[in-house]
Amino acid sequence: MNDPLRWIDPIAADWAERGLERKPSVFAGSTRRGTIETPAGRVLINLASNDYLSMACDPRVVAAGKAAADRYGWGASASPLVTGLRLPHVELARDLAAFERTEAAVLFPSGYSAGVATIAAVVGKGDVVFSDRLNHACLIDGIRLSRAETIVYPHLDIQRLSELLGAERSRFRRALIVTESIFGMDGDAAPIANLVDLADRHDAMLMVDEAHATGVYGPEGRGIAAEQGVSERVPIKLGTLSKALGSIGGFVAGSNKLIGLLTNHARGLVFSTAIPPSAAAAANEALRIIAIDKDRRDRLLRLGVEFRAKLAERGIKTISPRGPIVPIVIGDPRETVALGERLRERGYVVAAIRPPTVPTGTSRLRLSLAAEIRLEDLEPLIQTLAEAKASGVIH
Ligand SMILES: *Cc1c(COP(=O)(O)O)cnc(C)c1O
Repeated sequence: MNDPLRWIDPIAADWAERGLERKPSVFAGSTRRGTIETPAGRVLINLASNDYLSMACDPRVVAAGKAAADRYGWGASASPLVTGLRLPHVELARDLAAFERTEAAVLFPSGYSAGVATIAAVVGKGDVVFSDRLNHACLIDGIRLSRAETIVYPHLDIQRLSELLGAERSRFRRALIVTESIFGMDGDAAPIANLVDLADRHDAMLMVDEAHATGVYGPEGRGIAAEQGVSERVPIKLGTLSKALGSIGGFVAGSNKLIGLLTNHARGLVFSTAIPPSAAAAANEALRIIAIDKDRRDRLLRLGVEFRAKLAERGIKTISPRGPIVPIVIGDPRETVALGERLRERGYVVAAIRPPTVPTGTSRLRLSLAAEIRLEDLEPLIQTLAEAKASGVIH
């Protein structure tokens, strides 16, 4: 019999040969924050999670999720427009809007679907989207789905974006500028204040994806736009519940008008089941803790400063100046994976990020810090990285 899927075999072989094959690891979970346990019971320091504030297993967050599950059951059982909404969803949307200082907010099943569905709802044929070259896949996929024209600008290059807007904007009906605030794989920040001005000057909408910044940066953890003092001038704010908020789901915050449009036209919301009420309740408890626990955020940012200083002492460069995301570019995917495995032997889980997640030739170890990790915990890691530097694996 002919195997209709035989075309996959050479592709899979090619990826394996080039060191690009992905194999999901399984973990047995963890009770101690900042760590993760292998199925064999080995406890590793987790530098490959986006749970920057260690909220995912904070006892108060877990308790809030459990209480909501007892009260509302597990699944939401329908889309938000039918019977999927429970009180925790409504309370979370209200509290997110207050946190973001917008009129309203709306929840999505994930940050990914929020990104895709929002872009596809605000632009279409005859419109144009100006997109940073390193934007997250959900933003790229949203643009593709929208059928708007895409103009990609070089990473963080405001000068070039300004020229492109000047040259191209007038050919289109609506225009959207879209960027991450903290770039997930590079950890650097976009100049949101400049983007706000450009959007204003060229009659464009601005959408900022704060997935990696919410809870971590800015006053009360309100993100990079707030840190740069321009939060209220960003009309479309995208966030996730799955990173510093330790839960699952995505959200968009903005004006009543925007949220009304998304509620009616964002297909990733209309045609998808609401997140479990317990996930909403847990996220809201995390949001509450973040607002009152400035110390946790400060500890995380301080760890970022101290860790970078230790790396710099050994001549190791990172491509982000601050914050929990500390990428170390190796270049070759196989060497990246090999160094990641060596660190695993020393007791750390780190992500070996390779194409297509990052551009070819820029494979990297992406170390992500969490508030519960201590600098002492990282000494053997720093030692291993210093050895890799000495042997030329790290340039
Ligand atoms: C992680 C991430 C998302 C997706 O969020 P999920 O809730 O995990 O689906 C969207 N945008 C950016 C920039 C991200 O880093």
